[in-house]
Amino acid sequence: MTKLRSVGRTTNEDLRARVHFCADTGQIWLHEHRMLLVHAEAQAALRKELIDTLGMDRARGLLTRMGYASGVRDAELARTRAEDSTDLEAFMTGPQLHTLEGIVRATPVKVELDRHAGTFYAEILWEHSWEGQWHRHHYGMHSEPVCWTQIGYACGYTSAFMGRTILYKEVECTGMGHNSCRIIGKPVEEWDDAAEQMRYFNSESIAEQLIDLQTQVVQLRSSIGDRDQLPEDVTGISPGFRAAYDLLKQAAGSNITVLLQGETGVGKEVFARSLHETSARREKPFVAVNCAAIPQELVESELFGVEKGAFTGALMSRPGRFERADGGTLFLDEIGDLPTSAQAKLLRVLQEGEIERLGDQKTRKINVRLVAATNANLQDLVKEGRFRSDLYYRLNAYQILIPPLRERKQDIPLLAKHFLARHTAIHGKKLRGFTDKAKRALLSYPWPGNIRELQNAVERGVILAPGGTRIEVSHLFMSCSEEQPPEFGLGNGGGLDVNCWETGKDLREAVFNGALTLDQVEAMLLETAVDKARGNLSSAARMLGITRPQIAYRLKRLHGGTEVSDTPPIGSFDKTPTESA
Ligand SMILES: [Zn+2]
Repeated sequence: MTKLRSVGRTTNEDLRARVHFCADTGQIWLHEHRMLLVHAEAQAALRKELIDTLGMDRARGLLTRMGYASGVRDAELARTRAEDSTDLEAFMTGPQLHTLEGIVRATPVKVELDRHAGTFYAEILWEHSWEGQWHRHHYGMHSEPVCWTQIGYACGYTSAFMGRTILYKEVECTGMGHNSCRIIGKPVEEWDDAAEQMRYFNSESIAEQLIDLQTQVVQLRSSIGDRDQLPEDVTGISPGFRAAYDLLKQAAGSNITVLLQGETGVGKEVFARSLHETSARREKPFVAVNCAAIPQELVESELFGVEKGAFTGALMSRPGRFERADGGTLFLDEIGDLPTSAQAKLLRVLQEGEIERLGDQKTRKINVRLVAATNANLQDLVKEGRFRSDLYYRLNAYQILIPPLRERKQDIPLLAKHFLARHTAIHGKKLRGFTDKAKRALLSYPWPGNIRELQNAVERGVILAPGGTRIEVSHLFMSCSEEQPPEFGLGNGGGLDVNCWETGKDLREAVFNGALTLDQVEAMLLETAVDKARGNLSSAARMLGITRPQIAYRLKRLHGGTEVSDTPPIGSFDKTPTESA
């Protein structure tokens, strides 16, 4: 031991002389190697983040390999030392550098080596271990040794020095509660558990695994997205929805032009895609165009294509959406916004089945099924002279009215469940569904933005609800001034109105007190529905989730038996123009 100490003392000076701080260039040199003076605390923070993000085992591997690389560099320096030094003197470079670099105070206790014979044994005492100290600081006492970077260094240094794999193990470690760390090193073959230790030296391609997983996620997400376009997404059991969907299915077999009507957000594009997917054209393109989103002056070139030089700026010939949809389906949303000149061209395409690009004399045959959609009243636009009547009649030949969500309340639970499944998958979140209160709020909210609004609300709920819980009312609705979802309640005039829960409570109280009878409540519901539907009994029935014969029967029963003279005769509801259409 005295011999080891004296070896250390004589060589240390020479190593210190090889460290140069170049303040001018901002470089620190250890002989020929650039070094860094890094804050131990920052290094420890990186170590902690590696552990927290990758887990102990993976972090241990990374840190061990980092130390190994450092040890190998220092072994290069050992070789540059005086050629007349003994194996032992040369070997001492490692422990001395480890100490000089501020990692740990390394004191060899016993070293036996013969570079020619390849034999090696070392026991080294480690004091003030940087790694052991910070590991305990962040994670407390550990059951196993924790000086991974340092063990990596010792292995890297000695293996490079000896020219054969030398494995070190910590037999004591401050991270485990010992006063200092103690390491033993010998050739890898002499360890019984070598394989267990050596795995930390082999880099595993975590990047490849991550990319692999990422690809799988993208595929899963896109397949979830694709389902959006498929008919399964068109979900509903309500009579209003079924009627519309049956019409759609019947149109799928033919090439008839279809006009989809409905409020914003009712799912017109989903309907159009569904028509395409269930038709013989499903293998060909589905091209969707929102006429309101294209600047008026560009609509024609977008739809019908353009020949080079047709107008300033037309530097290249390019096909329009009609050509791109050839063989498939072209969906024109917001068709009421189409400029009149484009309307004339569209009519000609529908009649002749051919198009002319802008600035081109040549006609091209195209085979496209057109699906148009609007939330405007085209008839009104015709009257105002903003929409060509001949095009209107052409489009109107097969009209499908998609009911707003408030008229198909029975579908809300199905749709909400569907969107919940989709968005929990997209956001990778596990939720247990909706609270009862949230379910009631979904049913009572009027959904002016229709299905799109419902989908947005559910997505919002998925994002805001903590994992493992249920979505609550406050997760679904951005701002509800009364802090309660709106409900049907008794309004000021005594009629039913969209109101808050409290009013609904008043209504229940009124029934319990005998101030109102059940028949009166039913009559109010029926009349409100008929009013809202402007006398259209089928539509009123849809709002209430019952059939037309059921509503007719109930109205007759309520009014037929009582002497309410100012109630119009039941028959008058049937004579509205919309009903007979
Ligand atoms: Zn240790």
